[in-house]
Amino acid sequence: LTARYRQWDNDHVWHPFTPMQAHCQEEVPIITAAEGFELIDTDGHRYLDGVSSLWCNVHGHRVPEIDQAIRDQLDQFSHSTLLGLGGVPSIELAKDLVGRLPKGLTRVFYSDSGATAVEAAIKIAYQYQQQRPGGDTSRDRFVTLGNAYHGDTIGSVSVGGVELFHGVYKRLLFPTFQVPSPVAYRTPEGHNPQSYLEFCFDELERTFCESGDRVAAMIIEPLVQGAAGIQVHAEGYLKKARELTAKYGALLIADEVAVGCGRTGTFLACEQEEVVPDLVCLAKGLTGGYLPVATTVATEEVHEAFLGDPSELRTFFHGHTYTGNALGCAAALASLRLYDSRRILENVGAIAERLRRDLTPLNDDDYVGEIRQKGTMVGIELVRDKETKEPFPYGLRMGHRVTLEARKRGVIIRPLGNVVVLMPPLAMPVDLVARLVDVTIQAIEAATKEVGLGEA
Ligand code: PLP
Repeated sequence: LTARYRQWDNDHVWHPFTPMQAHCQEEVPIITAAEGFELIDTDGHRYLDGVSSLWCNVHGHRVPEIDQAIRDQLDQFSHSTLLGLGGVPSIELAKDLVGRLPKGLTRVFYSDSGATAVEAAIKIAYQYQQQRPGGDTSRDRFVTLGNAYHGDTIGSVSVGGVELFHGVYKRLLFPTFQVPSPVAYRTPEGHNPQSYLEFCFDELERTFCESGDRVAAMIIEPLVQGAAGIQVHAEGYLKKARELTAKYGALLIADEVAVGCGRTGTFLACEQEEVVPDLVCLAKGLTGGYLPVATTVATEEVHEAFLGDPSELRTFFHGHTYTGNALGCAAALASLRLYDSRRILENVGAIAERLRRDLTPLNDDDYVGEIRQKGTMVGIELVRDKETKEPFPYGLRMGHRVTLEARKRGVIIRPLGNVVVLMPPLAMPVDLVARLVDVTIQAIEAATKEVGLGEA
C-alpha cells in the first residue's frame, strides 16, 4: 500500500520548496493519521511532530475542542462570503482576536496564508499613503531586511531577502530599500559583532534619513527571522524601527506569521519591545494548525483612510474567494480559547526553559557553530569548522541528513540549509520536548559521523 501511495505521490503531487529529484528518490513517510503530538504513516510508524507540522500546530493533533468546533460549524454553514455579507464565525473571531492584541489594533482583514496576509499589508500600506489626509503618491518603497522571508507570492518575495528564493524571479520583483539584518554570528570583514550591530542600526537610520519621504512602510519579522535560520535580532532593533517609521511618516508592518500566536512567549513578539505596529500579519498558528486562515490587522488610523467621506466609494480592491471562511474561523476561535483554558503561554515558558537546558551540551559539539533560540523557536547551525564558521557545502545537505537520522528515530524535524530547526507545538509536554532534543542530538552525531566527520 505504502509503495503504491509513494508512486502516486511521485507521479502526481508537486511538492513545495522541495528538490524534485531528491524527493522521488527518498522513501518519504506517507501520513495517514495523527494523534496528540504524533503523526502516523501508512506503515503504522509514529513520529513526534518536532516542528509543529510547518510551524503552525499549537495544541497537537485531533484536539477534541477544535474538532468539535469544526463539527458544530459544519452543522451551521461551511462557507459563504464577506462580500456584502457578514458571517458569525468571522465576526466572533475578529472580536476575540482584537482583545488579545495590543491596544489600537482593531481592524481585521482576512485571507488564507502568511503570504496573502503580507500581500494585503503591502497593498494596504501603499494605498493608505495615498488616501491618508495630505496623501502622498510618492511613497512607493518598502524598507526590508536582508534574509527576510515573508512568503512566496511576487509581492511577498519582493519584500523578502533570501537570495536562494529570489534569484529566478528577480526581474519580476519591485525594488525596495534593503537594510542588513541585525545579527552578528558572521560579520563582514573589518567588523566585530558589536561594531556590526551598530552598523546595522546606523544603516536603518541612514536609509530613513536619506529616503524616508519615499517609504510607504517598513516590514519586519519581529525579534526573529524564521526562514533565515532562526536568526535572533539584536535587542532594541524593533523599537528603533518603530521610532524611525513614526518619525518619517511610514507604517510599520509586523510580519508575525511565524513568531506570533505565542511562539516566542507573548501573544505577539512585538509586545516584548513594547511596540505597537500599524499592521500585523498573523497566519500559521492562528487556527492551531488546522485550517488556512490569516489576518492582517490594522489600526483605526489606517482603516480610517479607507473610509473617507460618507459620499465616497473608497474600496480596498483585495480579497479571496475563501476570505473569512467559516470553518477556519470557528477552528481559530476554538484554538484561541484554548490559550486561556490550557494556559498555553505558561507552557511556552516551560518549553523554552527545557530546550535551553537540554540543548546546552550541544554547544561543545565540534560541528555546532551556534544555537539560536527565542521561546519555542530553535535553530542549530551546523558548520564544517567551528573556528572559522565555514559552512558545510549546500550540496552536502547536512541539515537534511540530520532530519533523516531523526526520522529513523521517530522524530520529524525540518532543516533550513545547514540549520536544524526545532519548533515544538506550544502545548507539547516537556517530557516530549526532552525526547525531541535527545533525538536531535543523536541525529546530529549520526549525520556528522556518516559524512566522515564524527571521528575527526
Ligand atoms: N511570513 C513569515 C515570517 C513566514 O515565516 C512565512 C512562512 O514560513 C510566511 C510569511 C508565509 O506564510 P505561508 O507559508 O502561510 O504563506
